[in-house]
Amino acid sequence: MSSYVFVLDDGGEIPVVIESRRGTRNITLRPKTTGEFEIRMSKPFMVPESQAIKFLESKRKWVNSIFARTPKKCVVCDGDEIEFLGRRVRLLRNPNSRSNSLILNDDGTWTLTVGGGVDMFERRVRDVIKAELLKSIKEIIKSTPREFWPARIALRDTSTRWGSCSSTGTMSFSWRLAFAPYEVMRYVVMHELAHKKHMDHSPAFWRQVSELYGFGVERAKRWLNQNGASLHKYF
Ligand SMILES: [Zn+2]
Repeated sequence: MSSYVFVLDDGGEIPVVIESRRGTRNITLRPKTTGEFEIRMSKPFMVPESQAIKFLESKRKWVNSIFARTPKKCVVCDGDEIEFLGRRVRLLRNPNSRSNSLILNDDGTWTLTVGGGVDMFERRVRDVIKAELLKSIKEIIKSTPREFWPARIALRDTSTRWGSCSSTGTMSFSWRLAFAPYEVMRYVVMHELAHKKHMDHSPAFWRQVSELYGFGVERAKRWLNQNGASLHKYF
């Protein structure tokens, strides 16, 4: 592991992780733009790290262009306001509290107070968001006939799929759906539930989705296609 940081032309700092590998002849370079931003590199054992860095610098223009077209990460801080599950939520930190509280204010906004130190702030906020999303997903599932219910539900941080349904009965959802409009998140849930009856994307499958979701499937799909990347802007 290395502690090298690549500074983008706009001043952004991206950690670089360099791995030495046996049996490889080349230096490889992979910018990671989902989850935590990172540049992942691998090099043969015999090649010194400085040479890998030189290689990275020689690709500076390309690396910059990759991160430039990815929405910037917002780091959430005490006092920030963010939106999840269709709620505007002000984030507060109470170092004296051990538990978290999410409270609906008189004006329709919400306040999320999390306990603990500054270093744990983002992590705790993320945990609350995940827990709230899971609650919402379960409520949505309970509104459907029992035959559609999955054996298990899991939240993941996938970049390419919003939901999936395994043959063992586990349904997985991207926790970043919490940042989508509620109706879009509900569509993804219904989509996966419909796969319990149809493992394909046949016309019969889509009829099942519409039956579960109601009117507006196309609109929800379009929203995801156009705005999906923006769901990765936090954390
Ligand atoms: Zn599907």
